[in-house]
Amino acid sequence: MLNMNQNFRDKNLLPIFQKLQSGERLSLEDGLTLYNTNDIISLGKMANYVQQRKSGDAVYFVLNQKIEHTNICVLSCKFCDFAVKKGDANAYEMTTEEILSKITPEITEVHITGGMPADWKWERYVDIVRSIHEKFPNADAKAYTAVEIDFFHKKFKISIEEVLRQLKAVGLRTMPGGGAEIFSERVRRLLFNQKIGGNVWLNIHKTAHKMGIPTNATMLYGHIETIEERLIHMLKLREAQDETGGFLTFIPLAFQPGDTGIKPSNQFTSAIDDLKTIAISRLMLDNFPHIKAYWVMLTEEVASVALNFGADDMDGTVGHERIAHDAGAISPMQLTKEHIIKIIKDAGKIPVERDVYYNPLNVYADHVVGKIPYLNSIPFYAHFEKRQFRILPVAPRRMGVLSEKGQIDAGLFSLMDYFKQDENLELMGWCLASRDQVKSVTLFSKEGWGDLNGKKIGITDDTATSVHLLRVLLEKKYNVHAQFERLHAGVNDVSAYDAVLLIGDEAMKRNKSGLHGFELVYDLAKEWYDWKKMPFVFAVWAMKKSLDESLKNALKEIITHSLEKSEIDFVADARLHGNEIGWSEEETRQYLEGFNFHLGEREMEAMMEFRSLVLDIETVTVR
Ligand code: SF4
Repeated sequence: MLNMNQNFRDKNLLPIFQKLQSGERLSLEDGLTLYNTNDIISLGKMANYVQQRKSGDAVYFVLNQKIEHTNICVLSCKFCDFAVKKGDANAYEMTTEEILSKITPEITEVHITGGMPADWKWERYVDIVRSIHEKFPNADAKAYTAVEIDFFHKKFKISIEEVLRQLKAVGLRTMPGGGAEIFSERVRRLLFNQKIGGNVWLNIHKTAHKMGIPTNATMLYGHIETIEERLIHMLKLREAQDETGGFLTFIPLAFQPGDTGIKPSNQFTSAIDDLKTIAISRLMLDNFPHIKAYWVMLTEEVASVALNFGADDMDGTVGHERIAHDAGAISPMQLTKEHIIKIIKDAGKIPVERDVYYNPLNVYADHVVGKIPYLNSIPFYAHFEKRQFRILPVAPRRMGVLSEKGQIDAGLFSLMDYFKQDENLELMGWCLASRDQVKSVTLFSKEGWGDLNGKKIGITDDTATSVHLLRVLLEKKYNVHAQFERLHAGVNDVSAYDAVLLIGDEAMKRNKSGLHGFELVYDLAKEWYDWKKMPFVFAVWAMKKSLDESLKNALKEIITHSLEKSEIDFVADARLHGNEIGWSEEETRQYLEGFNFHLGEREMEAMMEFRSLVLDIETVTVR
């Protein structure tokens, strides 16, 4: 827990920091106090405190390509310097072949937005997504803003759900957050009165979330909006996120005056305003996993500082962006991967190359310690003194993949990943083992165990061990064979499955709220215990055998210290984390007391029993 209260120059910030420490939500008035402060350093520290809790030392980037398929648009938003009318000298329309020629094999995200011409057919928009997906299956399409989706709905007389369904079927993975501008009717009437308002924008995004399409959210600031209107915009997003949980990241977009005539072209936002807005959005949007510093609009220099003001995402290489540059953005048209890595390292963070769902693909740093980002791992990390190490929160299965690439030095590994990599990893003497039930590895089912034969089970993308435990229980305990299918990270439409396996915080939330349509709830650790009368070891602490001896000793010392302090005192971080997932202090305490953190003889015996059962099952089909 940070203790920086005494360092606050602006004492008005103290009650706000106390709220953050106790998990209380910030109000509109708190937001106004934050915008009014001159103590920008304390504001940055508070945002960094929240960012550290959510993302550790990670800063994400993606190898992405922008596709702006046309600049012809039927609308005429006043702040837009990009759109033109058909027949204008600089009007362009890209063919599908031209679009495909812009994408290279290393690209993993294609960001598609553009103008809305009057004469394009619906099939042309669908074909763009389909062609990219077919030619570049590793490049996920993040396509069409809510403004475009609404345009398709009205022009082609197809419901919003059907527009999204058809796009999803040909490869749409996520939606960009553009077109939100500022959710103020006053501003909309003055600057973009032909465009959809906040309610329509929010409804389209919530519909996408319910259909299993995660999205982003933006806010265009620095034009004629008031500070209060910015904060109301954030609060509306926070409310929508409470409802669906489908937003991945929030992107404050600094207005580029260019030749729009709204402001003189030299009246761009100040770096102080940009940093404040990043930091305040991190503090207000407590339920958003990520905040992006969009370097294209902020400039590289401001984006770099923003990485210590609450931002944990640098966007990406952004090949040949035009919308912001046509409006006068002075940043380069694209950055190289090496340059982004350098910016992130210079900010003291871990550069993490991600996919469209924020799954880490590659990590570019030394001394990285993986952290399972669930409540049950908190005692190991609550008092973790980082020293020469950096912390990367990462789902169990992804930690295993990164470790196979040699990109994680130590961590709380999923048991299955330890089994697979035990030639290179050495145990450290700690684990995450359930005594009887666990409450965070749960099968939500429409059928009893015996009736799951041949049925389809959706498996959370995060799991590496629980999926094997489920298979062992199905096949060895109940003699049932089911089909497994991976869900992607974030929101999913699970209605078509017969059962769904969830782990970690998501399972804990659903244990409380229930999962609609799935009446039966099975705790896998309890199923194991009732059968074997043994604990179940979900994860073990391990480190690379090749790690320098001094680093090994330092790490053991750090973890021993953190665990000892956590065992004496029920840690504030755990209370806060429990609060975020809707568990009371007492429930959180009882949950953590259900774990054994020391790897003893009984746990080793249980590990070996599980290993022999897994080996007994023929080739595992879900990794
Ligand atoms: S902002 Fe979008 S909708 Fe408005 S004119 Fe520009 S391209 Fe068209």
